[in-house]
Amino acid sequence: MESSLQDGFGRHIDYLRMSVTDRCDFRCVYCMAEDMTFLPRQQVLGLEELYRLAALFVRNGVKKIRLTGGEPLVRKGIIGLCEQIAVLPGLRELVMTTNGSQLSKMAQPLANAGVKRLNISLDSLRVERFRAITRTGELTQVLSGINAASTAGFERIKLNTVVMQGRNADEVVELVDYAVNRGLDISFIEEMPLGEVGRSRGESFCSSDWVREQIAERYSLVDSAEQSGGPARYVRLKDFPDSRIGFISPHSHNFCSTCNRVRLTVEGRLLLCLGHENSIDLRALLRRYPETDTPLLNAINAGLASKPLRHEFSVGGEVQVLRFMNASGG
Ligand code: SAM
Ligand code: SF4
Repeated sequence: MESSLQDGFGRHIDYLRMSVTDRCDFRCVYCMAEDMTFLPRQQVLGLEELYRLAALFVRNGVKKIRLTGGEPLVRKGIIGLCEQIAVLPGLRELVMTTNGSQLSKMAQPLANAGVKRLNISLDSLRVERFRAITRTGELTQVLSGINAASTAGFERIKLNTVVMQGRNADEVVELVDYAVNRGLDISFIEEMPLGEVGRSRGESFCSSDWVREQIAERYSLVDSAEQSGGPARYVRLKDFPDSRIGFISPHSHNFCSTCNRVRLTVEGRLLLCLGHENSIDLRALLRRYPETDTPLLNAINAGLASKPLRHEFSVGGEVQVLRFMNASGG
């Protein structure tokens, strides 16, 4: 059955990305400024509020929820929240995007809590570079986390790599080797201009087509029409049928016509499009109407009617959206 949540262009919304925190133990160069101020506690939704919104969206047709952040695994109580959301009747899958730093200890509890799939960010396999990109991250910790996740029983694990000239573009093939040798998927992402990070993003821009050419020099690629309900386009490798290679190309291959998603920030703002500033304040309604969800649902439906047709990111990457990715629920 199609979701009853529909936007003004007839797109059914059945995918919710929920940010459970804006905080993070990393400060990735494309995501955050070096000096970040995080939200004060009272502005952040409580676990019960996050659950109430998840339940409301699922009752109205959302089939997939991705928990993200910031770093979702630094939010206290995250495992309990996953357990509650995973069993909502009608939800097909609960998934998560994480930087992997906490997975050594949390992969198994997450799988036990009902999280079906993980996306784990990995931008480099070299200790120093990894540190330079994440500013605070330890590569060995993340690699142990990936190992722990690989044996925890998730249906799939996908690595996410933001490709940047001068930082990690020369590692594309090594990252593919790493993924396929472990039976993991990997997606390469074009950097998006969200937030002012103190440099021009155009200088490091790397198109998905260029990334694909690098991989094609080493592997035989087989085009694939597969969809994961997200914006990635996939190829398979002839000799490694277990892995998929994805390309997320907000600049070079606009994916908005099939958009099926909205994002919820941890302040309770419903973002209708990653590339636009307009949003609906659900926190105020949550707190004003503790007993009834009707005003919330009305506000969500009214907001969806004005969901933009598409983002307007352009190569050269000037900032069009002032919010940072960690505040958007990446
Ligand atoms: N902390 C978790 C992580 O890093 O996986 C989840 C949140 S993070 C904001 C989600 C994804 O957004 C990551 O894969 C990250 O690489 C990606 N990301 C962050 N800023 C980005 C940007 N400006 N352009 C493209 N991708 C970005
Ligand atoms: Fe943290 Fe993820 Fe942003 Fe990196 S991309 S700073 S890990 S939220």
